[in-house]
Amino acid sequence: MNGIALAQSVATAAYIVAALLFILALGGLSKQESARRGITYGVAGMTIALVATFALVIANGALVPDDTTAFFGVGLLLAAVLVGGGIGLWRARVVEMTGMPELIALLHSFVGLAAVLVGWNGHLYAEGVAPELAGIHHAEVFIGVFIGAVTFTGSIVAFLKLSGRMSSAPLVLPGKNALNIGALALFVALTVWYVLTPTLGLLIAVTVLALALGWHLVASIGGGDMPVVVSMLNSYSGWAAAAAGFLLNNDLLIVTGALVGSSGAYLSYIMCQAMNRSFLSVIAGGFGIEAPRADTEDHGVHREIDAAGVAELLRTARSVVITPGYGMAVAQAQYPVADLTQRLRDRGVAVRFGIHPVAGRLPGHMNVLLAEARVPYDIVFEMDEVNDDFAGTDVVLVIGANDTVNPAATDDPSSPIAGMPVLHVWDATDVVVFKRSMASGYAGVANPLFWRENTQMLFGDAKQRVEDILRAL
Ligand code: NDP
Repeated sequence: MNGIALAQSVATAAYIVAALLFILALGGLSKQESARRGITYGVAGMTIALVATFALVIANGALVPDDTTAFFGVGLLLAAVLVGGGIGLWRARVVEMTGMPELIALLHSFVGLAAVLVGWNGHLYAEGVAPELAGIHHAEVFIGVFIGAVTFTGSIVAFLKLSGRMSSAPLVLPGKNALNIGALALFVALTVWYVLTPTLGLLIAVTVLALALGWHLVASIGGGDMPVVVSMLNSYSGWAAAAAGFLLNNDLLIVTGALVGSSGAYLSYIMCQAMNRSFLSVIAGGFGIEAPRADTEDHGVHREIDAAGVAELLRTARSVVITPGYGMAVAQAQYPVADLTQRLRDRGVAVRFGIHPVAGRLPGHMNVLLAEARVPYDIVFEMDEVNDDFAGTDVVLVIGANDTVNPAATDDPSSPIAGMPVLHVWDATDVVVFKRSMASGYAGVANPLFWRENTQMLFGDAKQRVEDILRAL
């Protein structure tokens, strides 16, 4: 075996170990208790993969004496790892928990962009491809560029929507479903054409088509479905990486891409089931989903309460359920909420938390915040575990939640969030909603809860208001 073949065999063995570590990482991340271990496996796998890649490029350079391009390659690789790793470390250190989904969306866009660049590279430097494999190579280029470009613009739109730089309301172009289906049909036709005659013009055409389709697919999806969109883009980014792996002949990229692609698709599917949404409708860019209507309904007059009034309500309550949402994360109100919980429990009040699966902006967001503030696990319940108990609850404190406690989801079949399971807080004797205004939630849908007879609004920053209540108590 010559030196290069040996280096390649060692690298392949290292890639298999890395792939196994990635599988263990995914397994570990499926449970809170093993998540830390899962991340350690992931970091170890990525380190092995990077070292093997470096070693392979260095071996290629050392073993082919006249090949200066390999040393140039090592320099480029080093620069890319230092710059990319530096930016990654910096962003991961400074990102707020509420900014996590938008950071993830942005990272997905990089994977998409990388797949597009690899695809273009495959078109521009196709000399070494054996003639009998040329058709497969062209198909790989075209499909890789398509998936990569859809992922790239789709993820950018998700980033803009999640960071509030773009409205979360769905874009409804006339004939939007026909536009999406037409784009897919055009892609299939262009692929066949490109495989037969691989011209630069066709590659430019598919890139533009896929960039526009990615943008349109995600722009057409409403805020209520964004959690599914994030995991769907995660899946797309996996397939984009796998497509790049085929082109680069890199087994590790293919395996890792397929792992991310299939686990992301499965996560999207189970999220759709939990949220009672149609999986196909979401991946088809909100197929059949209507835009939220402007809220023209006259809801009557809402009632307001102050912190002293809430303290009075709590003084006589025997059972309290707290349903936190994104506003608690924004206000960082989890610490005074934990103090309030302790104070009430010391007085013999039964306090529990009801957590909606998509409360906040990332799966498990509220659980992490409450754990951070040392709220005992055994009083934190999932939506299904508390939903039947609201009728026997004296006071519900809705702290910065909105879409997840919206009765329109159950009462109004024409609502954009119709059918989505929500916390039935309105069944309690008294409901207090902590928020700063009457504004709608992330899905952009008005919330009739605010005008219910047993609801009172406590306006202001959630943290300050909870601290006011603590003082009043
Ligand atoms: P929403 O986003 O529906 O509403 C949050 C509410 O918090 C707002 O109405 C806002 O009202 C209020 N708020 C904001 N800041 C403060 C503050 N400082 N003090 C008090 N209140 C504040 O929250 P939910 O958690 O109920 O729902 C989550 C939404 O996000 C769902 O639509 C979900 O689909 C979506 N989503 C979830 C993801 C996930 O994985 N969990 C990912 C992406 C999207 P005001 O401005 O009046 O104060």
